[in-house]
Amino acid sequence: MPDLSTFTTLSKQLENEAVTLVAVSKTKPPEDILALYEQGQRIFGENRVQEMIEKHEQLPGDIEWHLIGHLQRNKVKYIVPWVALIHSCDSPRLFREIEKKSAQEGVVTDVLLQFKIAEEDTKYGLDWDTATDFLDSDAFQQSRHVSVRGVMGMATFTENEQQVRREFRKLKHIFDRLKANWFQDKADFQEISMGMSGDYLWAIEEGSTMIRIGSMLFGPRD
Ligand SMILES: *Cc1c(COP(=O)(O)O)cnc(C)c1O
Repeated sequence: MPDLSTFTTLSKQLENEAVTLVAVSKTKPPEDILALYEQGQRIFGENRVQEMIEKHEQLPGDIEWHLIGHLQRNKVKYIVPWVALIHSCDSPRLFREIEKKSAQEGVVTDVLLQFKIAEEDTKYGLDWDTATDFLDSDAFQQSRHVSVRGVMGMATFTENEQQVRREFRKLKHIFDRLKANWFQDKADFQEISMGMSGDYLWAIEEGSTMIRIGSMLFGPRD
């Protein structure tokens, strides 16, 4: 069961900061999600498509489902009709697939561009050149069914505060440059999704607008 007093304290704290809480419910049962839902939480994050689909089918229709984990192109079609935000748009090919399937469904899908910010080698995420080459391309300029709402990144899993803050600052800097050069007229390009249970306080100080919190709310995962 989730820790309701932690939830209440965190929600109050975030109201003052204008930071959005994504409650990361991966591996947790629907009852745990409902317990936070009853406290007013509506945004839940999952990292596996199949699990998110099952929970979406079982749980109240006004939950906003955020996909925070890697998305394979062949699964895009299952979620675009209802997903609220895809944090993990990490390649031009995936973006093009989201555009294509969203056009077929007649929807506009909100995404964040996921950047590689960890100094250690990580598997997923855009680098600056790949992202900006794509933003300059016709494929991006002509897309009408994907709305880029901001950026997302994951810091290295380490206790080294200076390193984690450096990585968060890198994402904030990427956001600022993209905003100034590619999205200056797009008022809703405004989200910086960074910060998890272990590092969210640093993330907020470094400019996060959206934190993704799992174990601190729901307890450890097996
Ligand atoms: C699991 C996960 C989180 C939440 O991690 P906690 O440390 O449990 O808060 C956040 N973001 C992503 C991408 C995750 O996969």
